[in-house]
Amino acid sequence: MSVIIKTGQQPVSDRPIDTVSPRPWWRAFRRGWMGKCPNCGQGRIFGAYLKVNGNCSVCNEDLSLHRADDAPPYVTIVIVGHLLVAILLHMEMAWRLPPMTYIYTLVPLAVILPLLLLPPIKGAIISLQWANRMHGFGGDGDDV
Ligand SMILES: [Zn+2]
Repeated sequence: MSVIIKTGQQPVSDRPIDTVSPRPWWRAFRRGWMGKCPNCGQGRIFGAYLKVNGNCSVCNEDLSLHRADDAPPYVTIVIVGHLLVAILLHMEMAWRLPPMTYIYTLVPLAVILPLLLLPPIKGAIISLQWANRMHGFGGDGDDV
């Protein structure tokens, strides 16, 4: 004679196993900053300057699920703006240079620095979204 106790829970063997693997944000950030796939660290995020590849060429991770939108330019402008203001103030207070010196030095910096910083910042933001399972990276679709 067997006794069946109904507790409302599924038997242990039929329960879905938690297969969600951890995604360390610092590792993903570092890989994204270097332009590498946040999942494997081997494939490239970008196919062109800022064009994100649809899938990683090494691990086939779907990278098209990102929603970086305006965040990379915003972060880049904040960083470059603060940096240029600090340099400008230092140049003005320490050396008292002719006005054209600011144009010859700061304008090229204002053009070059954002162009250099934008790809790593965008890669890092996409990788942070991936690490936090945002916008479809978690498998549940875009939760906006
Ligand atoms: Zn990969």
